[in-house]
Amino acid sequence: MECLWCQEAIMPEVNWATLVQLSPKRSLCPGCEEEMERIHGKRCPRCSKVGSDAVCRDCSWWEERMPKETLAQNYSVFSYNARMKEMIAKWKYRGDYHLGHAFKQHVKTAFADWNFSEEAIAVPIPLSEERLQERGFNQAKMLASFLPLETEEVLTRLHGEKQSKKTREERILTENPFVLEKALHKPVVLVDDIYTTGTTLRHAGALLHALGCPAVYAFTLIRG
Ligand SMILES: [Zn+2]
Ligand SMILES: [Zn+2]
Repeated sequence: MECLWCQEAIMPEVNWATLVQLSPKRSLCPGCEEEMERIHGKRCPRCSKVGSDAVCRDCSWWEERMPKETLAQNYSVFSYNARMKEMIAKWKYRGDYHLGHAFKQHVKTAFADWNFSEEAIAVPIPLSEERLQERGFNQAKMLASFLPLETEEVLTRLHGEKQSKKTREERILTENPFVLEKALHKPVVLVDDIYTTGTTLRHAGALLHALGCPAVYAFTLIRG
């Protein structure tokens, strides 16, 4: 086995658990594993922002402007440290699909830690057709496949994703970039790679709610 990040050989661990195949195979070497920063300890109960277990300023800002239920909660797995930025660039923008498997076990254990008990449907945030052609795969769909939930791809994206020149206020006011192809009458867990401002997820949440979805949550790989 080679580490998916640095390509060093991974020494197989031989112990009772690996012999009976209880512990999953490593996809990263121990050194690279340590560079990833799982979110542990205090986090905002609404958006997973690290540091305090009180509702953060970002979330209060949203509460004043959008109905709370547009997005009930976001749960993230990792902090956006330097290594994670490099990994995301290689995985997402340079098309290294296989690298996504480095996140698989963490996604599974973090989802279990979340204690999410509703019978929900996972809905990956889509790319535009153009972006999908460029990249070859949708990273959100790959993440959704790691979750123990049924997945439905009910959203499509109309415009490109490049919005970085606009401020958050401008982005909220701009048109919703998604179209909902089918109403879902069960709780939904939106899946995406990163929660930054939460605008994208709230756009999707607003559409799902408008067509009768009872609750919208988000599960993201990274809290930016
Ligand atoms: Zn490594
Ligand atoms: Zn928050």
